[in-house]
Amino acid sequence: MGEPPDGRSNAGPFARAWAKALSGTSYLPMTNAQLETLLQRLTDQLAEALRAEPLDLRVGHRVADELVGAHIASAEALGRTVEVIQLRLIRDLDLVADDISDRMARLLAAVATGYARALRDRTLDEQEAIRRAALTARVEAEQALRASEARFRHQATHDPLTDLPNRTLFAERLAAAVDGPASRGRRVGLCFLDLDRFKRINDSYGHQIGDRALVAAARRLRRAVEPHLVARLGGDAFVVLVEKSTGTGDVVAVAEAALATLSEPVVVDGNDVTVTASVGIVERRVADTSPDDLMRAAGSTLHWAKTAGGARWALYDAERDGREQARQALSAAIPVGLERGEFYLDYQPLTSLHDGSLLGVEALVRWRHPQLGVLRPDSFIGLAEETGLIVPLGGWVLAEACREAVGWAAGAGEPPYVSVNLAVRQVHRPGLVQEVRALLRRTGLPPNRLQLEITESTMMSTAEEPVRALRALADLGVRIAIDDFGTGYSNLAYLRDLPVTELKVAGEFVRGLRAPEPRADERILASLVSLAHALDLTVTAEGVETGGQADRLRAIGCDAGQGWHFGRPASADHILARIR
Ligand code: C2E
Ligand code: CA
Repeated sequence: MGEPPDGRSNAGPFARAWAKALSGTSYLPMTNAQLETLLQRLTDQLAEALRAEPLDLRVGHRVADELVGAHIASAEALGRTVEVIQLRLIRDLDLVADDISDRMARLLAAVATGYARALRDRTLDEQEAIRRAALTARVEAEQALRASEARFRHQATHDPLTDLPNRTLFAERLAAAVDGPASRGRRVGLCFLDLDRFKRINDSYGHQIGDRALVAAARRLRRAVEPHLVARLGGDAFVVLVEKSTGTGDVVAVAEAALATLSEPVVVDGNDVTVTASVGIVERRVADTSPDDLMRAAGSTLHWAKTAGGARWALYDAERDGREQARQALSAAIPVGLERGEFYLDYQPLTSLHDGSLLGVEALVRWRHPQLGVLRPDSFIGLAEETGLIVPLGGWVLAEACREAVGWAAGAGEPPYVSVNLAVRQVHRPGLVQEVRALLRRTGLPPNRLQLEITESTMMSTAEEPVRALRALADLGVRIAIDDFGTGYSNLAYLRDLPVTELKVAGEFVRGLRAPEPRADERILASLVSLAHALDLTVTAEGVETGGQADRLRAIGCDAGQGWHFGRPASADHILARIR
């Protein structure tokens, strides 16, 4: 087999013809020049193989591999390749050998086989690559999801302003501390903390500075009570969880650290902002409590610290809490009691010291409580005054007293007036005059048979409204009495300008009259009576328990007496029987 000396130089035109044949069969990521260079190299290899002895079919496989590797990888490209090699290779490269066509046929068969194999391998590789890519994508997606879940979880469990744990996270940790598997036999503590008068900071510096002061407070708190969990419950309320307390002292120390760090002023935007806080502390055995219980107790205790003036901590006290809860329950039962008719009135005589006649009666409210039995006013009036329930309760008393008093006109002579105690709140309420006027109209009770008892302090308030209301009532003809006179301001001069008709002198003055000899109390009382008379006021002495006291009071010039000596508080029926 001869080897033309210039065999290689003919590879160029052939490679160009090959490149042309291939054009448009596949998408090629290379320039035409690069393609020609590649094909020229392959042409050389093929020519080499056709000349060599024996014929190495692996050259055909390698050429096919290279073609496919260069993305010349379609059925069309294979067809054109076989065609162009068959038609031109021998001629273009002047290949001469006896068995050249036979060798050519075998080499082309090897190219085709190699091509098919390379294509198959490439497909498998691509599938593998796709599988891998899918796997990587899934792993990445899962990572992204986990990251965003963590972010969501953080957002859901932290306060956006201070980045402290929020109520949700705190509740989880508290529940775990109280009910968790590791909590057995442990003690737990809470500091429920609230900034004092924080609203004032918002009001005087604006909400932005208020927010920054909160952020500063949160940061300090976190640092001061580490490693305990501090959560922001909302507004200016925070809570510290002391998970493994060894006793009250631990939690008190945490509260003191919190108060100390907060008491240092913060500079926000050049403003020196000072905040103080109040802390309610609860510390107890895990076995004896629940999260709700702890929170409720801490809330009450915080309230004690606040009402004691703030800037301090208070420690939970079960006895005090019990008392307050009982009061709370009692106060909540007042509206129900009113609805169910559990309240009733007793009446106590107001007796003339001149002739022993019945001038009037004082209405005294009682509560027939379904569980506690009959309750005296001292156990619920104060409560009703605090909560404002005295308004409906007092309104009922007033109406009931008028309703019952109308029926007392049956006897001979002047029927007694009914004297009703009015609480401060009732007097300060705008609708009082209208309420009384409507009541008198509805019941038909003459206005001079109603007396309203008001304490000195009610009258001494600087507000105009109560005085105006009382004047309007007095103008209607209603009697106005000052109750418990002598226990308050005792300013008789002031009374001169008020629409008052009667003074009820407190029982304390009368008590002093027990002694056989006239003493200071008696002289004070005597001058008080003459002053009152000078002001056109009648005087009724309260708490008259003995005949001796009644005699002395009569001698002093007192007009009327009230007390056990004249009659204990009793039902309306008793009063009616007495009138007859
Ligand atoms: P008060 O207005 O000073 O009423 C007189 C209280 O003294 C009554 O107690 C009466 O039972 C008691 N008392 C009467 N005579 C004597 C006596 O000789 N010796 C002693 N030691 N005590 C005597 P009560 O009924 O328990 O009422 C207590 C207070 O409750 C009343 O004091 C009054 O301030 C208030 N209260 C009663 N009913 C009402 C009401 O309907 N509305 C308002 N706002 N307060 C009421
Ligand atoms: Ca009274």
